[in-house]
Amino acid sequence: MSGERFEREFSEMMALIERHGSVLVTGHIDPDGDCIGSMFAIALMLEAMGKKVMCYAPGEISELFLKLPGASMLAGRDDASEFKHDLVITVDSPNTERTEHFARPCEDEDVINIDHHPTNEMFGCVNVVDSDAAATTVLVYRFFRSAAPGMITTDIADCLYLGILMDTGGFRFQNVDSEALLIASELIGLGARAYEIAHEYIYVKKYSTLKLLGLVLDSLRLHFDGRAATMEVTAGMLEKTGTTLKDSEGFVDYGAALDDVELVALFRETAPGEIRVSLRSRNHHDVSALAERFGGGGHVRAAGLTLETDLASARETIVRGFGEMLG
Ligand code: 5GP
Ligand code: MN
Repeated sequence: MSGERFEREFSEMMALIERHGSVLVTGHIDPDGDCIGSMFAIALMLEAMGKKVMCYAPGEISELFLKLPGASMLAGRDDASEFKHDLVITVDSPNTERTEHFARPCEDEDVINIDHHPTNEMFGCVNVVDSDAAATTVLVYRFFRSAAPGMITTDIADCLYLGILMDTGGFRFQNVDSEALLIASELIGLGARAYEIAHEYIYVKKYSTLKLLGLVLDSLRLHFDGRAATMEVTAGMLEKTGTTLKDSEGFVDYGAALDDVELVALFRETAPGEIRVSLRSRNHHDVSALAERFGGGGHVRAAGLTLETDLASARETIVRGFGEMLG
């Protein structure tokens, strides 16, 4: 397997960790399961090594993640700002902006960069970046296997499994490969609770979340003869169902489930005049290129951006972009 590819980086990474006593582990704004799983797995290892460790990712964190092993090391913004550390490890973040500069480039501090985004800016003193990896947790697992074998506890296995499961959409997306499945299998062998994690993080939804989904599905529109789809989450929908934006995580995939759809956008009203856009592509169309045009980014088949405008004009902008892509 390709684990050997980062052998030098993994030993440099371990050497840096061994040299330092306190470590800030950080990830991207509004962290997803892959980001959280990577942060907590690394933090649990550092804790077992006797390091002082704190985890922080800006934005909103789903309360479901607070039940994970490692969550006790998750800090609020103020504590993370004041935390005296001599090493930063970033996960799942293509640049330091996505961590809201809680990580800084190698010129400014010792930083290890672990990520699978193709747009990664290689800002670390050590860069473990592989856009072929299905998830950042895959890369964290490779690190463990290479430099810290025997340190994967059941708790760490849970965190890594969660990341692989969620970044592959429950082993459904195009990024599923033999390595992801092989690692998932090894993690179950190490005690990861595959059923419980799938149940809790993918399958089970609150009543209010399903009601919100109903409203969002009702907003579904087709464009270009059904080759593109758009949906929206308005502040009114959240209010009506008693939900928050976090509850709409994963809704964009319902658009991608449509027959014949090639491109999908979900628009979420995050504040008056601010729209978060999630983009998905079912085939070769590169939605990260469209996202980058507006200061966002991501992967070929999953990307995001923020537009400072209202819902109607955000939809107009993105649908126009979709039209150019579909030709
Ligand atoms: P989501 O639609 O689930 O929020 O994001 C899909 C993918 O795009 C994720 O891999 C995420 O990291 C990336 N992404 C989302 N928003 C942004 C953004 O504003 N900037 C960058 N660079 N990547 C983003
Ligand atoms: Mn990821």
